[in-house]
Amino acid sequence: MTRLSNLSRSLNGKVAIVTGAASGMGRATAFLLADEGASVAVVDLDQAKVDAVVGAIQKEYGSERAIGFSADVQNTERLNIIVKDTVHCYGGLDIVINNAGISLSSPANSPNDDFLSAWDTTLAINLSAYVHLVRAALPHLKQSSSGRIVNVASTESIVATPTLSAYSASKSGVTGLTRSLAVELGKDGITVNCICPGPINTGMTDAIPSDMKSKYAQRHVALRRYGEPEEVAHMTVSLCMPAMSFVTGASIVVDGGMTIRHT
Ligand code: NAD
Repeated sequence: MTRLSNLSRSLNGKVAIVTGAASGMGRATAFLLADEGASVAVVDLDQAKVDAVVGAIQKEYGSERAIGFSADVQNTERLNIIVKDTVHCYGGLDIVINNAGISLSSPANSPNDDFLSAWDTTLAINLSAYVHLVRAALPHLKQSSSGRIVNVASTESIVATPTLSAYSASKSGVTGLTRSLAVELGKDGITVNCICPGPINTGMTDAIPSDMKSKYAQRHVALRRYGEPEEVAHMTVSLCMPAMSFVTGASIVVDGGMTIRHT
């Protein structure tokens, strides 16, 4: 039968770097990328947690399909090395997933040191590190037949929660960075998009008691529940497919209908 589309949904042979891949949405994304055929560089803070994810991917998909790097994404030199070593190992780089993130609560009227420390750290991890990794990866993404960058932002770039001004500012920065890079890199055939997840069951929301999560979801989320990391990863991975060739600069909300719910 004649195929209706020649645009490929396969990631066979593609090479991806995923930050914050030892937990939550990053881990789900790393697994799903491998499931679709990509080789994955797993980046996170803790070596043992990185090794666990790498080991699990290798067991499922083969030992050549994952490598791991312990790194703090605030360390730009380390990001440069990760890109270099990944390219050395796999011969190229096609996909960058900027996902590592933190959320530090600090009211605007906190003592100076507390607020400024939360502000600086949040901006460094959630925003500055994203552009540093992109800059390190660019020469290689330009060589790819389908260069893809996906930045994980948040619905906190659209709506807001008290005491999370640094988080909200960083995620709004990610949507702006995404649009700007999309315009700049379009001529190189690289797409740049971001995901805005709503409330998701991950390490970041682990400390919230389940009855509070459930109450929140009943009141605010159209689907009346928190999402699971895999549900976000499916959108992230879709944006990486060669067939997803004309979507760029987009901020895609994956929130179970949280931001559209009025009553
Ligand atoms: P998570 O805590 O499960 O995973 C985040 C990972 O990032 C962790 O493994 C952590 O070790 C890593 N990380 C943090 N700081 C790092 C650093 N300096 N260097 C390297 N790695 C670092 O949480 P998650 O929810 O899966 O978070 C993934 C992304 O999703 C984050 O950018 C977060 O802001 C965003 N997000 C989460 C939610 C949610 O409800 N969980 C909603 C919207 C957006």
